[in-house]
Amino acid sequence: MAEPAYDAIVIGAGPGGYVAAIRAAQLGMRTAVIERDKVGGRCLNYACIPAKAVLRSADLLSEIRESAEYGLTVAGVEVDYPAVQGRRDRVVSTLTGGVRTLFTKNKIDVIEGAASLSAPADGGVGVRVGDTDLAATTVVLATGSVARAIPAAQFGGRIIGTEQAWALPTLPAKLAVVGAGASGAEIASGFARLGSEVVLLEALDRVLPSEDHDISRLVERGFRAQGISVHTGTPIEQVVAGDNSVSLTYADSTTDVDYLVIATGRVPDTEGLGLAEAGVSVDEAGFVVVDGALRTSVAGVYAIGDLVRGPALAHKASDEGIIAVEDAAGRATHPIAYPDIPRATFCTPNVGSFGLTEAQAREQGYDVVVGKVPYGAVGGGTVYGDRTGLVKIVGETGYGELLGGHIVGSRATELIQELVNVRALEGGYAEVAHMIHGHPTLSEAVMEAARAADGWLIHG
Ligand SMILES: Cc1cc2nc3c(=O)[nH]c(=O)nc-3n(C[C@H](O)[C@H](O)[C@H](O)COP(=O)(O)OP(=O)(O)OC[C@H]3O[C@@H](n4cnc5c(N)ncnc54)[C@H](O)[C@@H]3O)c2cc1C
Repeated sequence: MAEPAYDAIVIGAGPGGYVAAIRAAQLGMRTAVIERDKVGGRCLNYACIPAKAVLRSADLLSEIRESAEYGLTVAGVEVDYPAVQGRRDRVVSTLTGGVRTLFTKNKIDVIEGAASLSAPADGGVGVRVGDTDLAATTVVLATGSVARAIPAAQFGGRIIGTEQAWALPTLPAKLAVVGAGASGAEIASGFARLGSEVVLLEALDRVLPSEDHDISRLVERGFRAQGISVHTGTPIEQVVAGDNSVSLTYADSTTDVDYLVIATGRVPDTEGLGLAEAGVSVDEAGFVVVDGALRTSVAGVYAIGDLVRGPALAHKASDEGIIAVEDAAGRATHPIAYPDIPRATFCTPNVGSFGLTEAQAREQGYDVVVGKVPYGAVGGGTVYGDRTGLVKIVGETGYGELLGGHIVGSRATELIQELVNVRALEGGYAEVAHMIHGHPTLSEAVMEAARAADGWLIHG
């Protein structure tokens, strides 16, 4: 039986695991990270970062196409897709190289291989990597999630997941995306603007079904303007995969596409981790069961990120990693308020939100007040060329609490943070309404939406 050679072993080097490892090292723990694939995890290598790098090219192309509006003539614009992918790869390697540098700087051992929990070691938790037995006082499970197929279509050949979509070597002529949540919406909007014909299918009644209704409505309008064929309330009926195309049937029509992308969700990646043998509890959906400090049912073992419930987001994983190792180090920690985590969707139009939608706030019995302001109400919207964006604040009248913020339009993913911060600091919409915002900025629309909620909208 191995002696605990490490204070902390982190399994998985994604945004949950690598941040946990760095924080553990900062707290004086001798730390190792075990990764079976690539440092940076799925987020940096296959998911968030590659997606945003390609979307950045699509965004720039959209701006160039609108350049005449700004008095600029740009001729001969073409999409060099291999070059788009080349930039994506450079972005990924810059960021994953940065994580490796941070590991070195913090004296964190990086061990390559697939790890599993093993027999308890004296005074610690046992971990096995290949033929090697390791032990640590604290083990953080951070192995993330894998794509979930749908009954009508299993992965393989031209039926692909979202990670594969962003890595396609050539721009597909025609693509169908099943699932109009954040990932599906990003793929549809990115590829449509780069030049693919895109069919977007969503079984629920609107795109981005977990966002506020007003946001979904404006996003769908934007998608149609980009030429995306949007079908909501439309479950996929039949899929026939061929060598060079996929034939799919929905709502009594059949179409052939180069690729079918399944973007209907993910499941925790617990395979081979030895959870059952180690006595780590999982729930009926396969998520590892944790308490507010991310402790599992086994002493010394924590689980974070996509492995546990809550929104599957990189920044959620990172924050959980920090809480887990701070708890292990004996620091006081606080459970995360999951609804208040910012949600960012990088399709065009951009979406940023947190907290309750208007419908959820009403369902929960709040005396709801709503402040809604289009970007066009403030100078920045007109100057920067987005008058159709919208800021919507959902508050309650009793204490002036900010229950939710919903922004659609340019820079929404950045703008939402102001409202998240104000709520975290226990401010309400009246405080936002009275804060001085720079002029002319889009953030003035956030201030005006707060004023609208507070009953004294100036510009509108
Ligand atoms: C296409 C796409 C786009 C996304 N975009 C965003 C976005 O813009 N913003 C955002 O916040 N979130 C985004 N997400 C979600 C985000 O990727 C995840 O929430 C995040 O990666 C979770 O981090 P994690 O550390 O839990 O796991 P991961 O990033 O999945 O990392 C887990 C790591 O563990 C390793 N591993 C697994 N099992 C073992 C084992 N037994 N031994 C050793 N290593 C192991 C894996 O190889 C992997 O490297 C996106 C997801 C997808 C699919």
